Amino acid sequence: MKALCWNGTNDLRVERVPDPVLVNPHDVIVKVALSSVCGSDLHLIDGYVPTMRPGDIIGHEFLGEIVEKGPEVRYLNRGDRVITVSIIGCGHCGHCRHGESSLCDNSNPNPDYARTAYGHCGAGIFGYSHAFGGYAGSHAEYIRVPYADFNAFRVPEGISDEKAVFVSDAVPTGYMAADMAGIRPGDVVAVWGCGGVGQMAIRSAYLLGAERVIAIDRFPDRLRAAQMKAGAETLDYSRVDIFDALQAMTGGRGPDVCIDAVGMEADSASNAVEDLYDRAKQAVGLQTDRPAVLRQMIESCRKGGTLSIVGVYGGLIDRFPMGAAMNKGLTFRMGQQNGQRYAERLFEHIRNGDLDPSYLMTHRLPLDDGPQAYRMFKEKADDCLRVVFAPQS
Ligand SMILES: [Zn+2]
Ligand SMILES: [Zn+2]
Repeated sequence: MKALCWNGTNDLRVERVPDPVLVNPHDVIVKVALSSVCGSDLHLIDGYVPTMRPGDIIGHEFLGEIVEKGPEVRYLNRGDRVITVSIIGCGHCGHCRHGESSLCDNSNPNPDYARTAYGHCGAGIFGYSHAFGGYAGSHAEYIRVPYADFNAFRVPEGISDEKAVFVSDAVPTGYMAADMAGIRPGDVVAVWGCGGVGQMAIRSAYLLGAERVIAIDRFPDRLRAAQMKAGAETLDYSRVDIFDALQAMTGGRGPDVCIDAVGMEADSASNAVEDLYDRAKQAVGLQTDRPAVLRQMIESCRKGGTLSIVGVYGGLIDRFPMGAAMNKGLTFRMGQQNGQRYAERLFEHIRNGDLDPSYLMTHRLPLDDGPQAYRMFKEKADDCLRVVFAPQS
């Protein structure tokens, strides 16, 4: 089959690879109809995620049809149209049973890297390096889905492929960012990053009772989408001082909740000494993650407020304002998404019109265009929010 493979930093190639096969009786094989790019893929492409190997298939947000199923798969059938949550759970361990499937004890068959780096090992992720299980990704004609009854969800009638595909990753990640922040009616929520996850975090914050959502980015098309499609007020960090603007908009208190939908490659308009220092240290490998957004959130958040982090971090950061966080009594919530817990609820929101993620799909292209499409996505050219591949075309 055809697949989009990682071959090194900034080196993606469309290759012929063997078709996936059932490995475990709980697996299904999905014929991929749509497969979306995600901002977290850029960390792979930019070489910030270790344990990638040449030939690895990337992609983790997808929709398709089940074409084969293992003998132990009970709830799904051949011909079902499904989305699959990008983070893989086993469905049986304590974490999966308590709605924390991204912390699954069993779905990562290569636990040693995470144990060494993090102390414990979390779940496997499709197309996201050998440290996260070495699972083949979805930018391919077919994909193997393990523990299928737990990870794949039949798409309800009446919801289009273009809306449903994002219930794999962007929608639950944004929703979880808002959910774990414990938003209360009347809250002011600030969201850093207006990519797919940020857009969904804005909508979700409103669904959970926020009175105002303020979205922060520097790309005009993303800010426009945040305003027009998601209903946020917007701030362009290349034009205004974010701390000053947020204080002015909240009577000097600061937002109740600050959401990070950016992660480890955070950009900053400033040439402040700590931002230059981050870039230099990351470039020579002494620091893996740039914490410009985290610092800004800690400074801007109201006293006693909550920081909710779903942008992906991989390793170490430096010059972290722990004193401010502690003395302001901030709460930190964070994690990879637990989409299995939210999928049905999100389909319900989509079906009754509260949520329409289809505008995230600004480009729909064949898999052959993969390398150029990622370049466009990375450069945020042509107002690209997300490219979705149609591998069967
Ligand atoms: Zn993702
Ligand atoms: Zn589990």
